[in-house]
Amino acid sequence: MSKYQIQKQAIVDAAQDLTKKGFLMATGGNLSLRIIGEKVFAVTPSDFDYMKMTADDICILDFELNQLEGDLKPSVEAAMHCAIYQVRPDVTAVVHTHQVYASALTLINKSIPGLFDEQTRFLGRSVDIIPYAPSGTGMLRDTIAKNVRNHNNAYLMKNHGALLFGTDLDRACHNVEILEKCSLAYLLTLCTEKKASKVPLAVREIAFAKLRKDQKRVESGQIAVGGE
Ligand SMILES: [Zn+2]
Repeated sequence: MSKYQIQKQAIVDAAQDLTKKGFLMATGGNLSLRIIGEKVFAVTPSDFDYMKMTADDICILDFELNQLEGDLKPSVEAAMHCAIYQVRPDVTAVVHTHQVYASALTLINKSIPGLFDEQTRFLGRSVDIIPYAPSGTGMLRDTIAKNVRNHNNAYLMKNHGALLFGTDLDRACHNVEILEKCSLAYLLTLCTEKKASKVPLAVREIAFAKLRKDQKRVESGQIAVGGE
């Protein structure tokens, strides 16, 4: 049995849960998990039905993208996941989805300002749009790496989908749900004549400071995979 079996199974469970909830559709999107203490990560395979996936299908790659385990081809976005782990040492898990409401905001180039307490606490000060680059390319990898350094945990990928980070995999998956709720509420607000009000700046900053505190604990290696 693989020494990464727990992490592989955690990815399968998370992917199937997100599929059942409608956040992952068909084979779209991909998930990964950093292996703490190694320059290695686990990632979903390319073009594979999440509901048929087992732990053995998950790929283990090092930060040079050498495949250490798994017979299937890794996700076409594996290089993007790898780049995120290198520029964001506070991130343990990365979930990329094509979730519908967040994707809609990318089509009208609308970043989400700090609208709700839970949003600023877990997703960051705002959910910003990252400029377009084609899927599976080095251009997308570089564009993402350049635009995720501000310690937010959610981003919108123009004409593509969403990117969620977490201090663990459960947190990244919860962030998928928070983002979709915020996206729908913001889309509905944009349909009115009214301007969306934001949370007070001081509240946003206190919430963001709490998020940074969580992230710094990960950076200093105090949290193991799966939670506290
Ligand atoms: Zn995608």
